[in-house]
Formats: sequence, C-alpha cells, structure tokens
Amino acid sequence: MSTLTIENLTKEYGDVTALEDVSFEIEDEFAVLLGESGAGKSTMLRCINGLTEPTSGHISLDGEPITGSQPNVGMIFQQHNLVEGISAYMNALTGSLDRATTVESLLQRQNSETKRQALEALQTVGLLDEAHQRVSQMSGGQQQRVGISRALVQDPDLLLADEPVASLDPSSAETVMAYLKKAANVHEVTALVSLHQVNIAAHFGERFIGLRDGRLLFDVGPEELTPDL
Ligand code: ADP
Ligand code: ADP
Repeated sequence: MSTLTIENLTKEYGDVTALEDVSFEIEDEFAVLLGESGAGKSTMLRCINGLTEPTSGHISLDGEPITGSQPNVGMIFQQHNLVEGISAYMNALTGSLDRATTVESLLQRQNSETKRQALEALQTVGLLDEAHQRVSQMSGGQQQRVGISRALVQDPDLLLADEPVASLDPSSAETVMAYLKKAANVHEVTALVSLHQVNIAAHFGERFIGLRDGRLLFDVGPEELTPDL
C-alpha cells in the first residue's frame, strides 16, 4: 500500500489551464477521480504516471517525488491498448516487460515466475479459463479485465485507470469495476480511477476527488458523497 500526494498541481497547455493548483492525498484507498469531460482527469493521471510534465506543483509516492521519474505505476486505459491478435495470457505477460519488446522476445524471456504472475493475474480478473483466447475474440468488458491483469503483472506501487468503463454498457461497467476493486484489494495497491458516472463511483469508491474546470471541487469519503455534489 502507498500514499499518493498531489501538491499545488498546475498544468497548462498553451492558453488552456487543464489543472489549477490541485492538492489532495490518497492513502491505501480505492479512490475515484470524478468529473465531466474536460475537467482535467486525464491530465491528472498523465501527470502522475509521467506521460505529461506538470507546469508546477509536486507529486510524490510515499514521500518520494515521482515527477519526471519512472515510478512503477500500473495504468489501465479507456481504449485498452492491448495487442488484439494474441492471447489474453500473452497480453498479461507483456506487463512484466518494457514496451519495446517484441512478441518473439516475450516468448523467449518468459520464465516460470512471470508465467505464474500472469496466470494469477488472469485468475484475479476471472479469466483463467479464457487465458488462451485471442483478445480480438473477447467482449469489451473481458478486454478491460485483460488490461487489469497486465497492470497487475507489473506489480505496481500504484494503480491508475483512466475512464476504464466509459465505452462499456452499464452491466459490463459494473463487472469490470468490481474486478478492478478486487485486483487492488488482492494486490494491496492504492488505486486512483477516473470516472464520469457518479452512480458507479458511489458503488465502488472509498474516497472521491471531484474536479471541475481543472480545479478541485471536493475531496470526500463515502458518507459525504451527496447527490448535490
Ligand atoms: P478529462 O480527462 O476530464 O476529460 P482532460 O484532462 O482530457 O480532461 O482535459 C482537460 C482540459 O485540457 C480540456 O480543456 C482539454 O481540451 C485540455 N487538453 C487536454 N490535453 C491537451 C493537450 N494535449 N493540448 C491542449 N489541450 C489539452
Ligand atoms: P479524454 O477526455 O479521455 O482525456 P480527449 O479526447 O480529451 O480524451 O483527449 C485525447 C488526447 O487528445 C489526449 O492525448 C489529450 O492530451 C489530447 N487533447 C485533448 N484536448 C486537446 C486539445 N484541445 N488540443 C490538443 N490535444 C488535446
């Protein structure tokens, strides 16, 4: 488990202020980043995982600054970014390797430990029986669960998910969120998941960070999440 601390984070893209002086802290929690499209959720997650450089402010994990470095952050995307032509198992395995690795070298480099991790991660997301199915033959919800398993194989210190259920129907969205929460619990990893649906957030979140127009709107626990937020 770990503590993620965001201090006075600001991100400007030219004239657009995507984040303005945002501060919050999450500790050993399954936290939700809530906001409408354009609120700054993706920008926040991209700053945390190092894909974007903040204009100003500080991000730290367990007191260590992570801005500009490469923390071990597992990331789940709205469009899963899986390799569709290969199996769920092979996709899960890629979590253990750097992005430039080819499928051939993946096969060569897999050892019993990474195999075990990949199968265990697929079991956590309920896909052990589908391990050898091609991702292209799976449903959208199953594909997102493969994405979760890949992130788990990274053995992350922090789990981030950017609108992981935005392109799913409501029932698949609930299923995927349930597996995501289970994955965070089983691996005892602090998670920050961006969502725009308050009902799904309320069902799974343990803490709620609200953004509007790049500013922090609320930072509350389950008992304070009221319909007028
Ligand atoms: P969300 O994920 O909540 O939809 P984003 O972080 O994607 O919000 O966007 C926040 C704001 O920053 C929006 O106004 C968006 O148009 C703008 N923005 C995001 N990325 C870029 C970029 N690369 N260049 C310019 N503006 C951007
Ligand atoms: P999301 O709402 O999920 O963040 P967007 O469609 O806003 O998705 O953004 C998709 C990509 O386009 C991101 O890489 C983002 O940084 C970039 N982007 C978003 N808004 C702008 C913008 N106004 N100008 C340039 N790039 C943008």
